Amino acid sequence: MRYAQVVPDIPTRAIDGCFDYAIPTELETSCVAGCTVLVSFGHRDVVGYVVSTSAEVSEGVNPLRVLSVERMLAPPAFDEVAAGLALWMAREYAAPLASCLRLMLAPGQTVRVRKSDEGAWELVCNRAQAVDDRWAALTDAGRAFTPRKNASRQRQVVEALAAGPMRVAELAAMVSGAAGVVSALAKRGLVEIEHRRRIRGAEQASTLSSANAPRPTQLTAGQQGALAAIGEAVSARRGDVVLVDGVTGSGKTEVYLDAIERVRAQGRDAIVLVPEISLTAQTVGRFRSRFGDDVAILHSRLSTGERFDQWDLLRSGAAHVVVGARSALFAPLANVGLVIIDEEHEGSYKQDQAPRYHAREVAAELARRRGAALVLGSATPSLESLERCRAGSWRGVSWARASMPERPGGAVLPAVHVVDMRSQPGAKGGSVFSRTLRDALLEVAERREKAVLLLNRRGFASFLMCRECGCVPTCPHCSTALTYHERTHSLACHTCGSVWPVRAYPDPSTKCPNCGSRYLAQYGVGTQRVEDELRMLLPEDVEVIRMDADTTATKGAHTKLLEQFDAAECAVLVGTQMIAKGLDFPEVTLVGVVNADTTLKLPDFRAAERTYHLLEQVAGRAGRGERPGQVVIQTYWATHPAIRAVEKHRRGPFVAYELDEREEAYYPPFSRLANVTFAGLNEGVVRDRAAVFARELRARVLDLPGEWEVLGPAECVRAKVKDRFRRHVVVKAPAAANVGPVLTVAADALPARRDVALSIDVDAYDLL
Ligand code: ADP
Ligand code: ZN
Ligand code: ZN
Repeated sequence: MRYAQVVPDIPTRAIDGCFDYAIPTELETSCVAGCTVLVSFGHRDVVGYVVSTSAEVSEGVNPLRVLSVERMLAPPAFDEVAAGLALWMAREYAAPLASCLRLMLAPGQTVRVRKSDEGAWELVCNRAQAVDDRWAALTDAGRAFTPRKNASRQRQVVEALAAGPMRVAELAAMVSGAAGVVSALAKRGLVEIEHRRRIRGAEQASTLSSANAPRPTQLTAGQQGALAAIGEAVSARRGDVVLVDGVTGSGKTEVYLDAIERVRAQGRDAIVLVPEISLTAQTVGRFRSRFGDDVAILHSRLSTGERFDQWDLLRSGAAHVVVGARSALFAPLANVGLVIIDEEHEGSYKQDQAPRYHAREVAAELARRRGAALVLGSATPSLESLERCRAGSWRGVSWARASMPERPGGAVLPAVHVVDMRSQPGAKGGSVFSRTLRDALLEVAERREKAVLLLNRRGFASFLMCRECGCVPTCPHCSTALTYHERTHSLACHTCGSVWPVRAYPDPSTKCPNCGSRYLAQYGVGTQRVEDELRMLLPEDVEVIRMDADTTATKGAHTKLLEQFDAAECAVLVGTQMIAKGLDFPEVTLVGVVNADTTLKLPDFRAAERTYHLLEQVAGRAGRGERPGQVVIQTYWATHPAIRAVEKHRRGPFVAYELDEREEAYYPPFSRLANVTFAGLNEGVVRDRAAVFARELRARVLDLPGEWEVLGPAECVRAKVKDRFRRHVVVKAPAAANVGPVLTVAADALPARRDVALSIDVDAYDLL
């Protein structure tokens, strides 16, 4: 008799292990780790995931009392190593085990049990499936066949097929009723029908010029050094980490491509993570042009069917390299030799819903468990990674830094001019551009080059403010300032999506909701405003392309805008954060930052680091080709160390300053920080609940080694979201502490309550 260890899909932290079920003989060969099965649990049927199988029951289990697996619901999606990783994640991030295992299922699988209207439990199965295309081809008899004169459709079909096999769907688009004709001809043995697997979404290609970048003839010294370090880490097979610390344009992608090539030559697989927004056609194109169909792409902009097909290429062994967003870590590759995380400093590698994992940490654990190497790449590495490299190791594996300080072929880093906006009277008068930036833009137009203009607006979009009382209209359901949309004259809440029409200033009927004053002014600038000013400033033959959440909402819009920018002779690309990363256009000679400091003021201990990353990244878009580039940064805080670091391309003093501040305040990387949030409709209940939890936790951490701090409870910065009041408790623990289990135990000690939602965020990035 064989037994399966099954995790029931009940998303609660209370179920943190697996249960034994006997495998019936007819399922003995098919029921293996990674399968989805139906089992009985607590007197009802539940969906479960098999994490391992064994010849004996687990210790302490009476084999006579073990129930059987009832049904198989889905074939294996992961192996035992991946299941072990899910168990690790559940502990590390205080997350429900089932939610971690779900990350590893085939895209589109939602198999669950629900109560029907009659009160019975029923199974709802949704699984994405492979799709086949019907192809038609002429047989030998068909090629000799001459249709009758008046059978015109038949003749058209035979003529089309004479050129070679075709998809029936395609044929039907050319000749109406072709499907019927094909069936009739097939019956007579004149046409052969074949089913071929279709890979959805695989046909998209891009014209972006550098998408087909040729292989360089000679690697730089930095690139060779990085490849040597990666080679050692791959051979060591113990999860060693190499941080490729290379300035923008130093050729990091080239290093990844070569490293993957070497790993593939050993017959091992590779996983490449790229931030979702820089997973552009340009990036994908570079991997495709080197590895062709051996690459699968996984990201959230694909349809479920497309994602399933890509996933299935990996599972079936048709592709061995996956390039994708965060979730590509869980792709079904068992023989991983290399994991690469590009732009490793990116905040988006932290998942903001349960399980709230950080891809960098999960990748390190995955590499360790698979005996692979982990490569982290960035021009602006996170302070966490820099600190681990300085220490030389972290959690028992080696961390090494490979530095690439130069751009290949003598391209130089652009000169940076910081413009102090406090001494720019002209700018206050209405224009968003300082004289320096305006002149630089006009020169670009004159020289027929290209420019990129960043509007830094995370957290501070454009809003209306009363000039008498300073009141900013906020959403009545959420404590967020409403964003003002100039073109539609509306105020929108970006937390809950509510929209109100306004009659905008200077319409005399607009009044302050607080004091009734008519003097409402628009603060902060939007991308539309910058676009409008650019069109007025520049000659008409300069293309202005705007890229923000609005213009990239539809599928493929992002790529189209970039292609438009690429194809233009002379153009300015205006956009938000999304233009800062990964763009590689050699003709860009100017990068402008309209407002550099808005992110510096956010109430977040990483504000300075994030601002530095953003500015250095966007500055790196200039001067990647033969012509030198320049950068103009407008700011009201020119003396801040983060701005200074970008101005001089010198990271050292900023990193030292920032690490000092962090150490003093006991913030990461010198501690681990967790954020526990309570939310509910009743403010008093939320308040009580948070207080009880904080008291409980304080008592528990007293005896733990190292310095633990429990701060709060306090009101969250976003004190109300969708009518729910929010309070939080922030925990600081020693950098090596196991925070997840401590928080789990404290949370589980609270009596169950449905009216307050508790969420635990270990290694939190969003503290608002
Ligand atoms: P990064 O990822 O570090 O920003 P890329 O890999 O995009 O840099 O490289 C920047 C540009 O330099 C690309 O156009 C790339 O084709 C080119 N490049 C990379 N390595 C070399 C090399 N050794 N010699 C010449 N050109 C190179
Ligand atoms: Zn007012
Ligand atoms: Zn709202």
